[in-house]
Amino acid sequence: MATQVPPEFTVNINDRKCARCKRCVDECGFEALTYSKEYHEIIADDAKCVACHRCATMCPKHAIRIEDNALAYKYNANFSAQHRKNILKQAETGGILLTAMGCDQPYPILWDHMLIDACQVTNPPIDPLREPMELRTYIGRKPAWLEFDGEAGLPRLRTEMAQNLKLDFPIVFGGMSYGSVSYNVHKSLMLAAERTGILMNTGEGGLHQDLYQHRNSVIVQCASGRFGVHAEYLNDGAAIEIKIGQGAKPGIGGHLPGEKVSEDISRTRMIPKGTDALSPAPHHDIYSIEDLGQLIFALKEASRYKKPVGVKVAAVHNIAAICSGIVRAGADFVTIDGFRGGTGAAPRIIRDNVGIPVELAIAAVDDRLRQEGIRNQASILCGGGIRQSADMIKAIALGADAVVIGTSALVALGCRVCQKCNTGKCSWGIATQNPKLTARLDPEEGAQRLTNLIHAWGHEMEEVLGALGVNSIESLRGSRERLRGIGLDEKTLNILGIKPAGR
Ligand code: SF4
Ligand code: SF4
Repeated sequence: MATQVPPEFTVNINDRKCARCKRCVDECGFEALTYSKEYHEIIADDAKCVACHRCATMCPKHAIRIEDNALAYKYNANFSAQHRKNILKQAETGGILLTAMGCDQPYPILWDHMLIDACQVTNPPIDPLREPMELRTYIGRKPAWLEFDGEAGLPRLRTEMAQNLKLDFPIVFGGMSYGSVSYNVHKSLMLAAERTGILMNTGEGGLHQDLYQHRNSVIVQCASGRFGVHAEYLNDGAAIEIKIGQGAKPGIGGHLPGEKVSEDISRTRMIPKGTDALSPAPHHDIYSIEDLGQLIFALKEASRYKKPVGVKVAAVHNIAAICSGIVRAGADFVTIDGFRGGTGAAPRIIRDNVGIPVELAIAAVDDRLRQEGIRNQASILCGGGIRQSADMIKAIALGADAVVIGTSALVALGCRVCQKCNTGKCSWGIATQNPKLTARLDPEEGAQRLTNLIHAWGHEMEEVLGALGVNSIESLRGSRERLRGIGLDEKTLNILGIKPAGR
């Protein structure tokens, strides 16, 4: 059947600027550009272009411009171009539409409806250039109170402390599996985590054998498919995370197509080469909080109680009760992933219509755990749409202990959020296993870019903390009186637990 779907983009090559070096032809992972010997020029197949901008970035003459094919569909406020494109595609394929990265629909972004307070006259700000500022935070169970003994003036802590994770910045790189992203992405994340004193998360695909040497900087994930989960893996990470749900696709499993399951990935995931890696929607041994409690207990036993065990869930309607159950089941931290969280592949219908914003989820969960007197029993990590340091400050003021970043980290590595990770053709060498493409990301340069991002965001956080008159990020946690809402209705303000701007 011939396609009726018009190209989304047009690729314009400036003939006068183009040097016919053919670099763009080589750079495009989607084979949208070819060189015509006959016309001695570059020919673009607009239908193949995904607007990843690799060609435009690498063109030495800046001769390429990618533009929206705006007139492909006549404007209609109800049947948008996206709706009509989806219908046309499904009429041609009869299948579910797959996409990648986080929800891109125009739901309100609550981060952008919250403003941060600042000190003025009677409560002076702190100058972060002259005063020490503390961004370090600890993830894990905290005791309800501390007991000391020892001599006067030389107290000795008697309370036995649960194992906590030390983060020099309140940031964790989110779980992105080896398979959905390349080895070089995992290595970049791991090196950057090690150098900045934070952690990266393996995602659900296990950990490549060569990276075990960096184990202290890794949260190892145990998901429903149990890919790559074995005793050494569980014992070598700094913490274990049970993945129940993911913000981009709550309630469904994952799928890594067989063509991405290379020799290395098959060995790491412990599945045959070339076979589809399907992680089921539920864990087949978890149908209740008690079942979850048993798995947490089993993992703590397997790792000899030497490391925190957390649980990752998608932000959904009843998230406060769900997290309360998870904490009562023994989790040391809960990771809440909002509906804008990224993914390597998800049905578009799920990504764009299921779940809730993480901003509301953090506030609801923090409230509930405080009301039940169990807030100290677990830390809250939150992710799903953290784009800048201000989002982190707001998340922590709403009640999170630290934030998780995935898409922002990939953007730092070169990702242009073209949303085509599911094709495995990523021109930036990130969401692909094609050796020609993966070689484009140098892990050393990647680590440097990520390290720079973490340091830059850290400096910005210190500036904001200084303006708030707070010298430690842990003191800001749950300080919702330092936030104000703008353009939000009363119910949303109530859930967020913040006042409107002007009050
Ligand atoms: S990379 Fe730029 S200069 Fe080279 S062939 Fe392509 S458009 Fe022309
Ligand atoms: S990782 Fe690659 S394919 Fe995925 S959105 Fe980014 S640039 Fe596109």
